[in-house]
Amino acid sequence: MNNHIDTELLLNYVEGSVEPALSLAIALHQKHCPTCRQKIKDLESHYGENLELSESSHNEGAGFDRLITDIAKLTTADTNKAVPQVLTNHDRENNGGIGFVDDYAVAEINRPLLKQLLNFNQDGFEWQKLTSNISTVELELYDVSFKVNLLRFSAKTKIPKHTHLGKEFTFVIEGDFKDHKGTHTAGDFIACDGSDEHSPVAGDTGCVCLAITEAPLKFTGILGPLLNRYASY
Ligand SMILES: [Zn+2]
Repeated sequence: MNNHIDTELLLNYVEGSVEPALSLAIALHQKHCPTCRQKIKDLESHYGENLELSESSHNEGAGFDRLITDIAKLTTADTNKAVPQVLTNHDRENNGGIGFVDDYAVAEINRPLLKQLLNFNQDGFEWQKLTSNISTVELELYDVSFKVNLLRFSAKTKIPKHTHLGKEFTFVIEGDFKDHKGTHTAGDFIACDGSDEHSPVAGDTGCVCLAITEAPLKFTGILGPLLNRYASY
């Protein structure tokens, strides 16, 4: 697992203030990632404590300062450190495998879709071809900030070079792809923004991703005009 979710985003998740599209991707990643799962758990307990502190003492400043100090500690905690934590049977059996969401999350999550993506089956979706090697499914999450798509790339597909006009979050569902940041495999959560111009390449078995985009991608390669037309929503 090379890619994790940054602390600010996890804090928003724990507070329940994250957008529906992101809460879905964070829930998917936490299922795969003991490190982020532990961080969410820590943030939840720290955040809860500090909320109580500020309410009881009527001193929000001190509570907030302590919260920030605690978060700083979490942020600097070694993310490479192995966190010995496995999902319990309760997690696995509860609610079709998404019981872990009840244990660790506060944000609103589209549960039917989460279940569908955790037990992923390509045949369960109606794919639209963008090119001979790239297909997509648009997912409706009623999220005003983000557009959410499944993207499927056949083996070794080069995705035309593009920059991002806004934030883009990618969760790898199946297979893998690589770009200038490295190889991203199933379970990885990757954040990109306008500073990232890349031309990802799908791995040997292809790749299926959940793509969450704040603004349309801007394709700059040879297929640019065609793909920009598909990407403009
Ligand atoms: Zn992680």
